[in-house]
Amino acid sequence: MEFRTLGRTGWRVSAISVGTEYLLGVPQEQATRVIHEALDRGVNYFDVFWAQPEFRDAMGAAFRRRRHEAMLAGHLGATVDANGQGSRTRDPEEARRYIEDFLRRYHTDYIDVLHLHNIDPQEDYDRVMQGGLLDLALKYKEEGVARAIGLSGHTVSTALQAVESGHIDVLMFPINMAGHAIPGKRQLLEACARHNVGLVAMKPYAGGTLLMRERTITVENFRAGGGEVTLEKTLPITPVQCLAYILAQPGVSTLVPGVKDLEELAASQAYWQASEAEKDYSEVLASFQKYNEGECVYCNHCLPCPSVIDIGQVNRLLDLAADRLDDDVRAAYDALEANAEDCIQCGSCEERCPFGVAVIERMERAAELFAR
Ligand code: SF4
Ligand code: SF4
Repeated sequence: MEFRTLGRTGWRVSAISVGTEYLLGVPQEQATRVIHEALDRGVNYFDVFWAQPEFRDAMGAAFRRRRHEAMLAGHLGATVDANGQGSRTRDPEEARRYIEDFLRRYHTDYIDVLHLHNIDPQEDYDRVMQGGLLDLALKYKEEGVARAIGLSGHTVSTALQAVESGHIDVLMFPINMAGHAIPGKRQLLEACARHNVGLVAMKPYAGGTLLMRERTITVENFRAGGGEVTLEKTLPITPVQCLAYILAQPGVSTLVPGVKDLEELAASQAYWQASEAEKDYSEVLASFQKYNEGECVYCNHCLPCPSVIDIGQVNRLLDLAADRLDDDVRAAYDALEANAEDCIQCGSCEERCPFGVAVIERMERAAELFAR
């Protein structure tokens, strides 16, 4: 297991964590087995957004006696409607009751990350952030009930405002290959890194559609203008490729694939045993033709480099440093075994890159930017 820093919280979180949404309704024994196996494998971050009492009781039982090994991400504003379905509220009093219910059913007195739940349209963002649920979240943080404040959503524009507001420590946002070219997404990820906001990637398989056999798949295009996008699948896609793509993106602290049983948990954790060839997602992404020509996707399909430069990593650090070269980015660059100055301009990487990246020119820029 690899551990990464969750933004300004400074906590070290498992890079591949667990989403629990598919554990809703499974037998208690199964839920407990999945949680315990995940903890045994080193997973220490769990997103637990459902507010249904039976789910909370099941999770409470699963984490009992092992609560101290886990960081739990609960959601402020998650509720249950009259039909017992998951719902949401913006009423602070109702949200408060559900948090008290959370603490009771999880046998705990704190929530590690308290996400402002599922915020997308501008009006909703304004309502929550201007004296609404945000005030309640801040109060919980002051009292120690919440250790950190997060926000979950699917819309680039409002997520970016949250990141830049200074109020949130963590952002939970969909990141997957199907949404690679969403306008503004790249800037959002870089903003998380710049503002030291931990980034939790949800929907790693685009709700399962990336793994489906169908040749043509329609996936939600998140909400950067809304709508859906149809992708032509010419190649099978594996969970390992989906996760490798996300872990290569700037700013990502952890990702939370939903798992319903031990098999699905093993499939996500299989990443740690996968070879570099199995992780290579470049052909899949290139086949979607939903990328910006000339923009690096950090896949390292262009390796090997005779100067042993980690080209994807140098490009990622160059992009992060474009706005501001801070100490963390410099430290990451300085730690590289070989850097942009070692480029001998052989050009072999450019021949192998499926995305038309001008690597030599970028290495020159990186060498100049990071020069001491
Ligand atoms: S230069 Fe091309 S092949 Fe190399 S990491 Fe970037 S996108 Fe991938
Ligand atoms: S052009 Fe530079 S970065 Fe690319 S493979 Fe050759 S030495 Fe490595």
